[in-house]
Amino acid sequence: MNTEEIRKDFPILSETVNHRPLIYLDNGATTQMPRQVMECWTSHYCHQNANVHRGIHYLSEQSTLAHEAARQTTAEFIGCDDSRQIIFTSGATDSLNLLASGYAFPRLGPGKKVVVTEFEHHSNYVPWQQAAKRAGGTFTVIPVEGDVLDLERLKKELDEQTVILSVTAISNVTGTILPLQQIISMAHAKGIPVCVDAAQAMRHGGMNVKELDCEFLAFSGHKMLGPSGTGVLYGKKEYLKEIQPVRFGGGMVDIVDLKDTTFGEVPYCLEAGTPNYAGDIALAEAMQYMNKIGLEEIAAWEKELTDELEETLRGMEGVTVIGGKQPKNSVVSVSVDGVHPYDLASVLDKFGIAARSGNHCAQPVLRKLGYESLLRFSPAFYNTREEIHILAQAMEKSVAMLR
Ligand code: PLP
Repeated sequence: MNTEEIRKDFPILSETVNHRPLIYLDNGATTQMPRQVMECWTSHYCHQNANVHRGIHYLSEQSTLAHEAARQTTAEFIGCDDSRQIIFTSGATDSLNLLASGYAFPRLGPGKKVVVTEFEHHSNYVPWQQAAKRAGGTFTVIPVEGDVLDLERLKKELDEQTVILSVTAISNVTGTILPLQQIISMAHAKGIPVCVDAAQAMRHGGMNVKELDCEFLAFSGHKMLGPSGTGVLYGKKEYLKEIQPVRFGGGMVDIVDLKDTTFGEVPYCLEAGTPNYAGDIALAEAMQYMNKIGLEEIAAWEKELTDELEETLRGMEGVTVIGGKQPKNSVVSVSVDGVHPYDLASVLDKFGIAARSGNHCAQPVLRKLGYESLLRFSPAFYNTREEIHILAQAMEKSVAMLR
């Protein structure tokens, strides 16, 4: 991985923060954007901008073609044959809400249940919980011990009453990589569809829906070098057809009259209103950028950095690294004896280091682990070993200052 060359593509990485070179280790929250993606977005507005699927004029056709090409690139990126299986959304949260309201809610009712795990980000927890609550169904959460999911319990809970299982690919708190193949096989053995929340997984190595064989996959563009306000819901054809539209308006209808409305085909019936077409086009450019670098190379370098970061932090007195029994990638959370994560993140900021403190939008798992707040570092492929060494020194100094 030639990080020196790669970093030249990311203007923000040359910024200084508090008179120090920026060390950006908050990629779990959002990744930075390469120049190529920004230029793609600008170029669309400079040369092709028009609403999509709305007009017969030249620009509208160009814009529509570019948007549909982005859908195709997205499909190929996740190993899916048909671009009509790609629904553009505003992010993983939007994708998961669409599924919870449009697929799970109509199937839920007394006796029926949705199953998630205790690892989940609020975005893959609350939509299902609320759908079950509104429908009078059951919301079942599979417990986690340390960073290990209780697979025996999962097996027991998956039954003919289960409408869907939704599970994260990688925990945004512990970085734990869940055994997805095993989990999906367990659900399929009972005929239960599975949604994978790939928000944390896409930026290192992507996901292949054919290999995974999941029914649905949700992710955000801004966590994989794309713009904010972009996202995707993938689904198997026979399952996408089963989603009831929950947002109505232009672009998603067939015939509208006084009595009722008929809807267009998937994916358009699930994309009401003007889409974020320039954002989606830029997201596809981000995928192409990652393809050029090489998905395997990205995953391997991020793993190396994560291992080094984890080892460094484990070696520090009074620092507890959260989890670690299971394989992890690109997220390392810590608790430091006698120091609040918020204070530590504030002092690290003075060293130009961006780290995240708080509950990481995952209160259930934090509560289970016995914490209210943690400090999280999440490296990406444009981070360097040198930055990890600077972080280690800054941690020593900051902790000494705060104790
Ligand atoms: N799922 C996971 C595992 C996440 O880490 C996040 C964001 O941190 C989300 C879902 C929600 O993503 P977004 O806020 O982009 O919709």
